[in-house]
Amino acid sequence: MEDDERLVAISAIEHWSFCRRQCGLIHLEGLWTENVLTAEGRRLHEQVDLPGLEQRPGLKKARALALRSDRLALVGKADMVVFFAEPGYPPPGRPFPVEYKRSMRNNFRHAELQLCAQALCLEEMLHLSIPAGALYFGGSRRRREVPFDARLREETEAVATAITSMMLSGRTPAPEPGPKCDHCSLRALCMPLLPGPGRLAEYLREM
Ligand code: SF4
Repeated sequence: MEDDERLVAISAIEHWSFCRRQCGLIHLEGLWTENVLTAEGRRLHEQVDLPGLEQRPGLKKARALALRSDRLALVGKADMVVFFAEPGYPPPGRPFPVEYKRSMRNNFRHAELQLCAQALCLEEMLHLSIPAGALYFGGSRRRREVPFDARLREETEAVATAITSMMLSGRTPAPEPGPKCDHCSLRALCMPLLPGPGRLAEYLREM
């Protein structure tokens, strides 16, 4: 397999954290459908997805910055990276990745993992250490700072490794039926409540 062929979109990290099957359907099988939540998220990202650079005294802001990690087999882009001019960091400064999200949810972990994956890509590309980034919620215009501690880094790397294994195996994980399916745009394609092979005959008889 060519090096670039094994790279997976960074968004797979958040998808895997939300539901392994969803990650497989999107990144392995290439399936996608949109619901209200994904459409709102897409509209928000359309506003920040145009590459650009903004400069102010003491900082630079890069939008839609291309990212890549050969170590974690990830590729994608950061919505925004703010570079703070700080001692100990060569120009353009200390990177601070910011990921835009539609609205705050109860579980921030999925988005934190994705943000940390962006930081790990930047660290590999720039050969420096990035202590923190932030999630920005477009609906409420609130920001949540995310420190990239050892636990978050380990978890992110474990997810990236698991995704690589799934891609190499060519097997989409089994459904994980639960309340989260109500928010999943792939529900109609996934059919999470269809019985497993052992109960298929029984299911067809009942139908
Ligand atoms: S419908 Fe449920 S099990 Fe299927 S991909 Fe979505 S969240 Fe996962």
